[in-house]
Amino acid sequence: MARFLITSALPYINGVKHLGNLAGSMLPADVHARFRRGQGHEVLFICATDEHGTPAELAAAEAGQDVRAYCDEQHVIQKQIAEAFGISWDWFGRSSNPPNHRLTQHFCEALEKNGLIEERVDQMVYSVDDGRFLPDRYVEGTCPHCAYPKARGDQCDNCGRLLDPTDLKDPYSVISGSRNIEVRDTRHLYLLQSRMQDRIRQWVDSKSADWPNLTRGIAYKFLDEGLIDRGITRDLSWGVPVVKDGFPRPGFEDKVFYVWFDAPIEYIGATVEWAEATGGDWERWWRLDGGAGDVRYVQVMGKDNVAFHTVSFPVTILGSEEPWKTVDDLKAFNWLNWYGGKFSTSMKRGVFMDQALELLPPDYWRWHLTAYAPEGSDTAFTWEQFQSALNKDLADVLGNFVNRILKFTESRFEGRVPGGGEAGPLETRLYAEIGAALADATAQFEAMEYRKAAQAVRRIWVLGNEYLTEAAPWTAFKTDPVRAGVVVRTGLNLVRLMAAVAAPIIPFAAETIARSVGLDAAPAWPSADGEAELSRLAAGQAVSAPEVLFRKIEDDQVAEWTERFGGAEAA
Ligand SMILES: [Zn+2]
Repeated sequence: MARFLITSALPYINGVKHLGNLAGSMLPADVHARFRRGQGHEVLFICATDEHGTPAELAAAEAGQDVRAYCDEQHVIQKQIAEAFGISWDWFGRSSNPPNHRLTQHFCEALEKNGLIEERVDQMVYSVDDGRFLPDRYVEGTCPHCAYPKARGDQCDNCGRLLDPTDLKDPYSVISGSRNIEVRDTRHLYLLQSRMQDRIRQWVDSKSADWPNLTRGIAYKFLDEGLIDRGITRDLSWGVPVVKDGFPRPGFEDKVFYVWFDAPIEYIGATVEWAEATGGDWERWWRLDGGAGDVRYVQVMGKDNVAFHTVSFPVTILGSEEPWKTVDDLKAFNWLNWYGGKFSTSMKRGVFMDQALELLPPDYWRWHLTAYAPEGSDTAFTWEQFQSALNKDLADVLGNFVNRILKFTESRFEGRVPGGGEAGPLETRLYAEIGAALADATAQFEAMEYRKAAQAVRRIWVLGNEYLTEAAPWTAFKTDPVRAGVVVRTGLNLVRLMAAVAAPIIPFAAETIARSVGLDAAPAWPSADGEAELSRLAAGQAVSAPEVLFRKIEDDQVAEWTERFGGAEAA
């Protein structure tokens, strides 16, 4: 048994996330956590809301709420929706909680002790009418690159370029709209990433053999461009206060750490929260001097987060010169697009997580977003493909098999697993085929190749259907009921096995299917021994057909959803 620490990228606090966030972080991390638990490993699956920074303050202001009250409310909303999707975090923390504050301040002190922090005087945009500096998104203006008139201080949404607030032309305050803007001097802490260039490259070299191409490519691109020193404080009040020796740092009383500095530290902070709430030992997962040496640490995220996790966060951790656990496997995803374009809240285009659950149960989304994950390249979601894939995979292949064999067992074998008879050539061949498919499925789940893992799971469902069609127990029953009993027993074991391999991806359906053959919950992840895995159910075990497992998605539903959420016109 091994130990797996799994983290999914922290969702930002400002509102419910769209399906792209689910597909590129929370869901694949959950599938892996469930798979590793099913294998019998010890798993700690951690996530948290990322709550600091200007977007939280601005969203709170727009909602007419105090920023803390806003974050309290949004955290609960995000947690409940994720749980409704079956995301099985062991802990869902908050970057605004005390453990992250303590750890962030601790890392800054450790980095400063090692000569990696420097105070510098910056020029920042200051609003005379608001009486304050305007960091990041508090200022908007005209993009110097593309002339877009509503570029934000940190990024232009039109051309995508990263900006500094002082880059903007004709800047105005987002708070008051005032154009009475000056550039003033302000002191900030800088993290001297440039001094860590060689150290980070060595670390990436030592780890990246296990990383997928997407992750490795982004990490080396940033290393090749050269690490630049980065301001890690902001002129804001909402965030982690800047301290020195336990007191507010002189000159930094009105400043906090930049959200990008404290957010990844919350992976550790959330683990401390988990330990405080459950009596667990967080150092056993994070400190090499606390027993974390045999932990395999897996991070899952969208590609926009990779640089922060392969370069920036490692600078913080390694620069502390303390024995912290660093990431082993870093799985990144491309974008899930909506038809040809992006998800857009303002254009009402695309489905958000809460809306998705109004339309269909979570397993439909979980299956589709895993089987068609934006893995090798950006992937376009379309209702048409969603409908066709789900109807085929879930309704026709899995649902139909379970229903067919259980109904037949109820009508011909009194709803019990038949005993007697011996396996014949068809079963022998099935054992070999299932064994090979199980070995493949295990390998793909272990490699976090999600599309291939789903294909391997579907292959097992298809093999079951082919076997049942060929063995035709309904025909055999008339002339050779013992032979029919062997086929039905094998078929019921296939039902059990189908639930076992489906469980990481569609846990709700897997549990329903497992109950239909008399189990309390979905079985553990199977071995690659086809014969053993198809001989698990005891003769005489009571079974019963479940209610309809998967309803087919009809054309009129697709038409209605296209109308409601926008569809083809986005392409
Ligand atoms: Zn621009």
